[in-house]
Amino acid sequence: MEGRYRGLLEAAPDGMVVVNQDGEIVLLNLEAERQFGYARDELVGQQVKRIIPEGFAERLIADGARSAAEALAQQIGTGIELYGRRKNGNEFPIEIMLSPLGSPDGVLVTAAIRDISGRRAAEKRLAEMESKRRFVEDALRESEERYRVLLDGIRDYAIFMMDPEGRVISWNAGAERIKGYKADQIVGQSFSCFFLPEDIRRGRPEEVLRITARDGRHQEQAMRVRKDGSRFLASLTFAALRDPAGSLLGFSEFSHDLSKSKESEAKYRGLLEAAPDAMVVVNQGGEIVLLNVQAEKQFGYSRDELVGQQVGNIIPEGFAERLIADGTRSAAEALAQQIGMGIELSGRRKDGSRFPIEIMLSPLESAEGILVTAAIRDISVRKAAEEHLRQSEELLRLTVSSVKDYAIFMLDPLGRIATWNEGAEMLKGYRPNEILGRHFSCFYPAEDIKSGKPEFELKEAALTGHIEDTGFRLRKDGSRYLADVVITALHDGEGRLRGFGKIIHDITDRKEAENNLAQMTRELTLKNQLLGSVVEGTTDPIYVRDLENRFLLANSACAGLFGRSVIQVLGTSMRELLPNDSYYAVAQSDREVVLAGDTRTVEEVAEIDGIVRIFLTTKGPYRDADQKTIGTMGVARDITERKRSEERLVKTARELKRSNDELQQFAYVASHDLQEPLRMVASFTELLAKRYKGRLDSDADEFIDFAVDGCNRMQGLIRDLLAYSRAGASGKALHRCPSEDALNNALVNLRAAIEESGAVVTHDPLPAIWTDDKQLTQVFQNLIGNAVKYRSAEVPCVHISATKNQSGEWIFSVRDNGLGIDPRYFERIFILFQRLHGQTEFEGTGIGLAICRKIVERLGGRIWVESEAGKGSTFHFALPETPQAAESGAPGERDLAEKEAKR
Ligand code: ADP
Repeated sequence: MEGRYRGLLEAAPDGMVVVNQDGEIVLLNLEAERQFGYARDELVGQQVKRIIPEGFAERLIADGARSAAEALAQQIGTGIELYGRRKNGNEFPIEIMLSPLGSPDGVLVTAAIRDISGRRAAEKRLAEMESKRRFVEDALRESEERYRVLLDGIRDYAIFMMDPEGRVISWNAGAERIKGYKADQIVGQSFSCFFLPEDIRRGRPEEVLRITARDGRHQEQAMRVRKDGSRFLASLTFAALRDPAGSLLGFSEFSHDLSKSKESEAKYRGLLEAAPDAMVVVNQGGEIVLLNVQAEKQFGYSRDELVGQQVGNIIPEGFAERLIADGTRSAAEALAQQIGMGIELSGRRKDGSRFPIEIMLSPLESAEGILVTAAIRDISVRKAAEEHLRQSEELLRLTVSSVKDYAIFMLDPLGRIATWNEGAEMLKGYRPNEILGRHFSCFYPAEDIKSGKPEFELKEAALTGHIEDTGFRLRKDGSRYLADVVITALHDGEGRLRGFGKIIHDITDRKEAENNLAQMTRELTLKNQLLGSVVEGTTDPIYVRDLENRFLLANSACAGLFGRSVIQVLGTSMRELLPNDSYYAVAQSDREVVLAGDTRTVEEVAEIDGIVRIFLTTKGPYRDADQKTIGTMGVARDITERKRSEERLVKTARELKRSNDELQQFAYVASHDLQEPLRMVASFTELLAKRYKGRLDSDADEFIDFAVDGCNRMQGLIRDLLAYSRAGASGKALHRCPSEDALNNALVNLRAAIEESGAVVTHDPLPAIWTDDKQLTQVFQNLIGNAVKYRSAEVPCVHISATKNQSGEWIFSVRDNGLGIDPRYFERIFILFQRLHGQTEFEGTGIGLAICRKIVERLGGRIWVESEAGKGSTFHFALPETPQAAESGAPGERDLAEKEAKR
């Protein structure tokens, strides 16, 4: 049995270390050597804490105070994270299972140490779920690793490979141990060096290869030579390795040293029990001859129930049978068939349930013949994790392929398209078969290709891991769209670039909307600025107030009214700015505007800083976007000054009128009442002249003449003054009358003067106008009278005409061929008592033209003269066609006029 246990120990896939009560390593297996990187001799006799963390190593040892079983109970299932330390100082995660081992030297502890770095990595990968590709690579690596572990684990067999010429290309630990060469010493050498010199001479190495190549496999038992020259009997199996096409890749050799040493059985039993895997030893009849605790646990049987049973009961039969070495093939051959076959296996429990397993095998020669040890590992957890990963990936793949708004695809490291989703097809218009394998630069516009943009983007992504770009891309039909592109470099576990992931989103619409918005915002800003500068630029206060009379907007002019800045005014209520009376008046008018809902212009009076101001305010409701009134807005104009000057003007006009009235009344009264005594003086002077002319001396006659003349002049003056004071104050309403009638009346009145001078008076047809006919007669009479009076040597010719001007006035003209007037006096002649000629030359009072002006102006017109001295004059007067609010005479004046009429 001892050989059996020893085989088990060496075949175990875990590192096995046996420690005594002093913490010294007393035994270890090949895997432990490999894991910790020490040769066996370096570790035996050493403290276990060298390779396992101290705290743990110490607690692991049973001491006087507690039994080995107690020490173990403490450790198992503690679930703490442990690390082993390699000879080179590196640490790696481990899992430890313990079992006590009674021995003649006292209680030993067996530790089965498993390097779980691989599992850790797998756990991490699961969390990452990055890509199926990476997972597959990892899985592949893992299986290679397992394969290598297996080869290394088979310590009793030299297993290595050769090229077609027989040169060694791989080397396992068993080969090193059996043949004594280290890998670096033998790789590249011909395998003939393992042969005896006599065999080499007769060409046996070449012959073996030839036979193997021909038959596919070859088996023999023969003597071989170790590196140190010692000889041993070996059992050898050669196999030819061919690729699927059948061409020869090389050979493998499995060899076995048939001479062995012996070791303590108890130690091996302990090791078997401590193994974390279920271990089952099967004989050539397929019967179970030995198993460990773990196997009991896994399959749910007690040991007694399984020993002697067919292994097919717990492991599927087909496999179990092939697993057994039989007469026609060696155990090594059976193994060769199984290793790396990668089929899915399952174990069957006593209750009939199945669970996925992984089996590692090693042959074991014993007194009962060749046995096979199977290390069976329950991989349900890993399977479940794999399945979970697969499902997640499937989900991810489905998600990616069904995304329609985004083109999502992969590029190989050279930029060729490797995958294509539905979104990519919709966005770019290519079917998968049209685009897969093509270079991705076909999506770029010509100018980008010329500038090397596609290559640049890949390089950049490879360098920095990730790039983002917004730019134009092409669809299959050549049309452009604006794309938002993200390129991500994809690396495998070793950091090699595997390709690129590309995500593209069409943002043409979004960009357009953004542009429109930007344009609108610009226009709005411009309008706002314009509006702002208009509002700010005006000197009229402009405001918006809410319904509580707080300023929402105010321009500087508005804020300035209150002696504040715009910022200070905003948010402030009118209540704080105005005294109560003024505030209520303004608030009331605001309320009315809000109620009426329309814009109106009102005069507002407000006391600001103690000064009463008057505003002409145009105000209206201020509405929000929903047309709801939320305040009032208005533009005010401070009309205080205008109002005051208007008032002043009215007052002045009133005063002027009063004094004018008084003056006129005085003139009238004076001229009227002077007539009475004058008439008496005149009549008595005439009487005096009649009775005493020629009766007194010549002086007396002359004095009487002077007196009569003076009286006549005085009467003329008074008559004219009276006429002047009455001018324009007829009190009669204006009516439409033919101006020709007025002219004819004037000519009748002037008949004596006209006849006496022999003057010729002509006229054009004259219009009918709104006027006072008597007064118009007076104007004609004065002007024609003057024209005849101030005649030259020629026979006076007077012509009267009328034309209408553009503003609808009638311009009357009285043209003469008389003396003419120096332009210097054009204004002066219209002033009362102003004359250009002396009394001896021409009689006159200097009142005629003043009367004309007064009448014309009161009819709403004007009068002026055009002349040149010596060339005659033309007097013009303009009268409105329609009646004007011609000022009627003062009341007093009218009364007097009536009085005069009665007389
Ligand atoms: P009076 O004729 O009584 O002097 P008016 O007021 O009618 O007073 O005229 C004022 C002055 O204007 C006259 O004294 C005369 O010198 C001048 N004048 C008026 N009409 C004419 C005219 N048609 N030609 C020349 N001078 C004139």
